[in-house]
Amino acid sequence: MTPMRSVSTMLAALLCAATIAGPAAAGHDKSADLILYNTKVWTVDDRKPVAQAVAVRGKRIVKVGANDEVLALKGPGTRVLDLQGRLVLPGFNDSHTHFGNAAEWFFQVPLTDVNDLQLMAERIARVAARVPRGMWITGGDWATSAANAAGKNRQAGFEPLVPDLKTIDAVSPDHPLLFRRFDHVYFANSAALKLARLSPKTPDPAGGHYGRDPVTGELNGMLYGAAGEGLERQLPPMSLQQRMIGARAVAKDLNRVGITSITDIARYPDLSEEKLYPFFVERSATDMRIFQGLRKNGDLTLRVNMLVPIETEKNLVAHKIKPTAGDKWIRLGGLKAYGDSGVMYKPVAGNGLPSEWSYRFPGESAFAQEVLEADRDGYDVGVHIIGDKASHELIEWYADAIRRNPARDRRFRLIHIWHTTPEDIRRAGKLGLIADVQPYHLPREVALVGTTLDDERARSTHAWKSMIDAGIVLNLGSDMPGSYNRLHVSPYNPLDNIYFAVTRTDKTGYPAGGWHPEQKLTVEQAIRAYTLNPAWSSREDKIKGSITEGKLADIVVLSKDILTAAPTDYLKTEVLYTILNGKILDTKEEVQ
Ligand SMILES: [Zn+2]
Repeated sequence: MTPMRSVSTMLAALLCAATIAGPAAAGHDKSADLILYNTKVWTVDDRKPVAQAVAVRGKRIVKVGANDEVLALKGPGTRVLDLQGRLVLPGFNDSHTHFGNAAEWFFQVPLTDVNDLQLMAERIARVAARVPRGMWITGGDWATSAANAAGKNRQAGFEPLVPDLKTIDAVSPDHPLLFRRFDHVYFANSAALKLARLSPKTPDPAGGHYGRDPVTGELNGMLYGAAGEGLERQLPPMSLQQRMIGARAVAKDLNRVGITSITDIARYPDLSEEKLYPFFVERSATDMRIFQGLRKNGDLTLRVNMLVPIETEKNLVAHKIKPTAGDKWIRLGGLKAYGDSGVMYKPVAGNGLPSEWSYRFPGESAFAQEVLEADRDGYDVGVHIIGDKASHELIEWYADAIRRNPARDRRFRLIHIWHTTPEDIRRAGKLGLIADVQPYHLPREVALVGTTLDDERARSTHAWKSMIDAGIVLNLGSDMPGSYNRLHVSPYNPLDNIYFAVTRTDKTGYPAGGWHPEQKLTVEQAIRAYTLNPAWSSREDKIKGSITEGKLADIVVLSKDILTAAPTDYLKTEVLYTILNGKILDTKEEVQ
């Protein structure tokens, strides 16, 4: 020990002695900082599946056991919570998110299903309450669902909503707002018209016009053709600072439903932008600076495992970014690629699967080579895969990499994996592959896929139970915030997704009994797929994913015992506490 260090150690010891209680003393005595007792702890640790109490010191779990054993660690500074039989689980880990998109969506009003003034006003009010005053609020493609429905049923006289300016101004007095309708007509509120210096005297631009009151000539907020496009072009691009405001709120949203870790589709901006692509391959990948910025400000209330575009692999190697670079808060977990949008062996009559590789896919042999090289360089790989033929090929490419490259401990992911075959499920299990599935995709698509697939193929579609039985490591997740075109919004509440996994129905119970009920998960399997399995998949199962002594104290407390409750009760279950790194998080929503 250097003299310097021994002096500082002595000082620290003196300071600790002077402190009667509190975190500074924690390292020196055996008392806990936090005790949860009189609970049912479902640990997801097979060696000790159930306990009554858990104690936390600093950031770690120090005791899991019976009430009296754990309460023995109570000291004068210990916060003790009597949880009256509530269920305690490891913090949830969402295995598939697009956090950056969610941060952008924070400033947008969901509108595709809106064709009604009152509903539009309600949606705006909700967003305006969260977005700081003066910042732009946007929203896309109102009346899309109504237009689609009218088109399908050939209803005559379909009228898309023309919002009333006064009504919209009343709910957005402090935010400029610009919305687009499905037919590319726009609407701006008075704050936006004022910022853009548009007045009744403004002449109409070539190729467009401003909507005006027929009597007074006042602008009514509607912007047609070049008038709307012109205003949209004037909007400032979303800055990193603005994204950070959204990101902070999204992190809290995730904490509120008990999420303490995510695997996010992300990118290193400095590396990825060095390379030019024929297409925007990084759409939907979170700029890593968002996570770093949150961390710097003390707002990173999630542990982030990033999957970055496989196209950047050579840049990662060149910059010596190791396959598991990072730490317990922000780490590199592997490479992500887009495979297909439904490459099937046989077309499916009427279900609309386009049977194509994604526009970001470089071709079969080029991609097989990318997987081989990424694996040889030690990176784990995850691929978005939908169709049965596509998933077969991907499993072959993984098998090929495993056969040709030196042995190593791998984490290869099949992301989404909707359609496959019993043979490929067995093979994937033998290879030790991971499936990242989003249970909501089943009820979302069941009306389409469920009624158009022949029985044989239906049996191995969304075949979650078979995957587990075959030895595939199954992770559940959300794919939040939803589809890039906003038509689908993904529920990110793990309790919703556990409900979908356990029932294989939508929230109304359709289809009755569940679609192919033999593939339902047990609630225990679903919890594991939201906790320990994703931790294993990011090579972090030694430090998190179960309530085990020595692991990080990422813990949730639920209002109901979902292990014994009916699945419909999961939808009414709340997260009472979210504990991250030993600290109880404040998850209250901030209102401006
Ligand atoms: Zn995704």
